[in-house]
Amino acid sequence: MTKSDQSPFVFENTFSRTFKTEDNVYFNEVTPAAVSDPEWVSVNLQLADELGLQSHNLQSPKMLKIMSGDIRGTSLKPISVVYSGHQFGVWAGQLGDGRAITLGEHRINSTPTKYNELWDVQLKGAGTTPYSRFADGRAVLRSSIREYLCSEAMNGLGIPTTRALSLISSSTPVYRDDVESAAILCRVARSHIRFGSFEHFHYRNQSESVRSLADYVITRHFPEWLDTEDRYINLMSNAVLKTAETIAHWQAEGFAHGVMNTDNMSILGETIDYGPFGFLDSYNPDFVCNSSDINGRYSFKNQPAIGLWNLNALATALTTLIPSESLIPILKTYEPVFLSRYRSLMSAKLGLQKYEDSDEELINRLLALMNENSVDYSLFFRKLCLFSEDREGVRNMFMDRFAFDDWADSYSDRFNRQDLDASSIKRSMLKVNPKYILRNYMAQNAIEKAIQGDYSEVNLLLEILQKPYEEHPTAEHYAGIPPDWADQISVSCSS
Ligand code: AMP
Ligand code: MG
Repeated sequence: MTKSDQSPFVFENTFSRTFKTEDNVYFNEVTPAAVSDPEWVSVNLQLADELGLQSHNLQSPKMLKIMSGDIRGTSLKPISVVYSGHQFGVWAGQLGDGRAITLGEHRINSTPTKYNELWDVQLKGAGTTPYSRFADGRAVLRSSIREYLCSEAMNGLGIPTTRALSLISSSTPVYRDDVESAAILCRVARSHIRFGSFEHFHYRNQSESVRSLADYVITRHFPEWLDTEDRYINLMSNAVLKTAETIAHWQAEGFAHGVMNTDNMSILGETIDYGPFGFLDSYNPDFVCNSSDINGRYSFKNQPAIGLWNLNALATALTTLIPSESLIPILKTYEPVFLSRYRSLMSAKLGLQKYEDSDEELINRLLALMNENSVDYSLFFRKLCLFSEDREGVRNMFMDRFAFDDWADSYSDRFNRQDLDASSIKRSMLKVNPKYILRNYMAQNAIEKAIQGDYSEVNLLLEILQKPYEEHPTAEHYAGIPPDWADQISVSCSS
């Protein structure tokens, strides 16, 4: 046994509290409200490892108490933070952590790759806060399972995201359309600061607080910029760059976020706040995953433009720090960054080593064909990995086989021009075209079992989604097209 194995593990041992050193306009100290009869649904051992946490300590009865909101006997001083935001394009005023409570910050001190990084450890659903407005501060089991699985699925796909460390169920009732039970998710992220955090102070004419929030983010995440004149410009440029890259990933993997309000946009450009998200089944650019989004503002095809809209809102919030003549050229970098990342991701999915200008037409023709033929987006790309040995298998996915042949001839010419051996291309394609994505019906299966107290499906899905490119013989049934009943699943903002 090593020394750290012997010490009883609690977060407070490793928590630092950078947030507390700032003037305290951003947050309130809050005490979580524990749930009754807490039970582990899942503990994410892969992430525990990445964070340098000892998994057996993490799964201890003491940690079950803490992670279910009972912090008595600890020295934790949790906080909730304020933010505002534009929801569905309209200024919504003050929002804030209505059901998120940050226990503290964990400094990674053991793993070499992330050594010294600081991560927020946050409970979602642990009771009311000063920002709960009229709501109950709770989260239901179904939406918590969806967030838990999706954040890990996204990470498995290499998409920047907040993470999920554990999920706890309880017997505490929660009242939505029906009576459901409360769950508590432990979300960890390098930052939970949103575009809306800056908007909050800007629209209150508190420019000093905008500045100190920006300084806080820079001190914590980009200390190398601290003494430079361009630090705020760098912060904005980084937000543009990272947001463009993340959304390019969403588009390439067929992910629809569902609620791209400015309060759901991370200043680090990571995917945050999983609500009514959805992955594309058959390719449809007009896909709207959120049944509450009547006008389709956040449809799949609108996401890149909405990303820029949100960055404009962030830029407005930073006008007291950065002159507008500097903001405009920064915002103009969004489109080229997005396009370049999207093109390189799509080229890789097609097995093309390097994007060429004429590939745009090839990609657009393919997407149009998939749309017309209702071809499953992820399955197509997985099958395409075998194109050179089983062209017929790919062809059979299309109703209009002749139209496919047309496209496939062009693709084949382009593919063969690469002068690389097909088997090595196949190997690299299998590493970027997932066999498993989190389809709504899979989450639904896990939810229905979990409501009955059986958490095996949550844990099976966690395992396969963390390694979505690998073969998982016990989960072969999740690698095909969704069953007919999947069409009936409707996901709204209710959570
Ligand atoms: P969301 O749509 O999840 O991004 O939430 C929008 C705002 O509503 C945020 O300020 C949340 O904290 C708040 N909120 C959502 N659900 C609840 C709840 N059950 N209790 C308190 N606040 C909530
Ligand atoms: Mg939110």
